[in-house]
Amino acid sequence: MHVLVTGGTGYIGSTAVEILRKQGYEISILDDCSTGHADCVPEGLRFIEGSLLNTSDLAEALEGVDAVMHFAGKSLVGESVDKPDLYHSVNVDGTRNLLDQMRIAGVGKIVFSSSAATYGEPEVIPILETAPTNPTNPYGSTKLAIDHMISRESAEQAIAAVSLRYFNVAGALTCDRGWLAERHNPETHLIPNVLRSTHANPVKIFGTDWPTSDGTCIRDYVHVIDLIDAHIKALNSLVEGVHEIYNLGSGGGYSVRQVVEAASKATGQVIPTVDSPRRSGDPAVLIADITKAKAQLGWTPTRGINDMVADTLASFS
Ligand code: UDP
Repeated sequence: MHVLVTGGTGYIGSTAVEILRKQGYEISILDDCSTGHADCVPEGLRFIEGSLLNTSDLAEALEGVDAVMHFAGKSLVGESVDKPDLYHSVNVDGTRNLLDQMRIAGVGKIVFSSSAATYGEPEVIPILETAPTNPTNPYGSTKLAIDHMISRESAEQAIAAVSLRYFNVAGALTCDRGWLAERHNPETHLIPNVLRSTHANPVKIFGTDWPTSDGTCIRDYVHVIDLIDAHIKALNSLVEGVHEIYNLGSGGGYSVRQVVEAASKATGQVIPTVDSPRRSGDPAVLIADITKAKAQLGWTPTRGINDMVADTLASFS
């Protein structure tokens, strides 16, 4: 099967490329490298350096393709608050273009990177796919708009589609080109920030007065390798005219302080931290109910927080 990976030079997309390649899939990548890194692209692999907003780039990228894994998009909550139009343009308009060009090219299969941000502040924990969707930031709104767009496309054009709603993705994958890991600039994610913490520049703990057992936010972390395993299972589960939505997390949660403890155990050193005000837009607790992905995709995440911390740490060296 020939899979077009949009966003294949980013953290999650490049990991997908590597795992798909190892499993014998034929791959093309479409990426504008606005936040990704072209040095992730394996030698000899078909790479279209282009944009979702450019019809001819999309048409070229879709030539000979059977299915799309759609990772490309803007993904920072804070930035989306400052630049909602940019997020709407790249994420929503970009995906509209992709779906239009898929129809023209006769490509009828898509696995989309959606997000737990579509749910907003949850009423019930753990969160089921049937929970209300009330995104609290433009990033989450764009992901929800795309999920709805894909549902319509599936009903009207009979495309086979899956949206995967990620909780907190972490960890790294080593390959013949070194480590595929988070290389965001600036880095906003907790695990890399904790591991880079120094006395001169301690990691900030955003809020210590949340209604949780230790006062810090709780999140559901899933290893990027497990996440891609779910994508491949989703790809092989696609049914014409059906759009399924699955949560991808571990089904359990860790507080910010528990992540700091795990990092301290991995490094053998006390991690310097500084208590800071709450970050706007953060819900107190986000934990996925992953029963549906387990039952319907036959997926079980096997790597825990210690693996995610250890792999991220190893990727620094
Ligand atoms: N967080 C933190 N300090 C940081 C980065 C994140 O305390 O430097 C907290 C953040 O408030 C959230 C959790 O860690 O409760 C996970 O944040 P991250 O940005 O990694 O992912 P998000 O949950 O926003 O997708």
